[in-house]
Amino acid sequence: MAEQEIDCIFCKIIRNEEPSEKIYEDDDVTCIKDINPVSTHHYLILPNKHIRNAKELKPEDSDLFNKIVATVDIISEKLNLNPASTRTGFHWPPFNTVNHLHLHVISPIEKMNLMRKMMFKYNSYWFVSVSMKFYYILQILCKKNYYTLPTSFYRLTMSSLA
Ligand SMILES: [Zn+2]
Ligand SMILES: [Zn+2]
Repeated sequence: MAEQEIDCIFCKIIRNEEPSEKIYEDDDVTCIKDINPVSTHHYLILPNKHIRNAKELKPEDSDLFNKIVATVDIISEKLNLNPASTRTGFHWPPFNTVNHLHLHVISPIEKMNLMRKMMFKYNSYWFVSVSMKFYYILQILCKKNYYTLPTSFYRLTMSSLA
């Protein structure tokens, strides 16, 4: 096991070495309750594989990425979340809290306070929705490295894909 997986809090949760409230788990993903919920429902969907953040997703992770996104539907159905008032998104580095990729699922968004709304604002510079998936695919198709793109272009692309 790599050193970062030994020390990672989410890897420990996945291995049941740390307590958590698991909502769902299978071979690829684990869904837990956020310890600091910002609304009635606040969950984190984690890939069981240690991936540091959304920026480090690789082409070979695309099935896993789809699985993470599909898990939103599984838990939404299980917990009766209204899709219209549910927000999902990833942190975008360097605004990570834990260095293990996780998709936040927050519902209902109406119950979040202003500060939280800012923090988990859709497609803000630090919190990106799953529509980044399209950007990600685009990036692979174009074989372009988005790190070299100016921030303004990146923001524009993100908002046009929202
Ligand atoms: Zn981890
Ligand atoms: Zn987070």
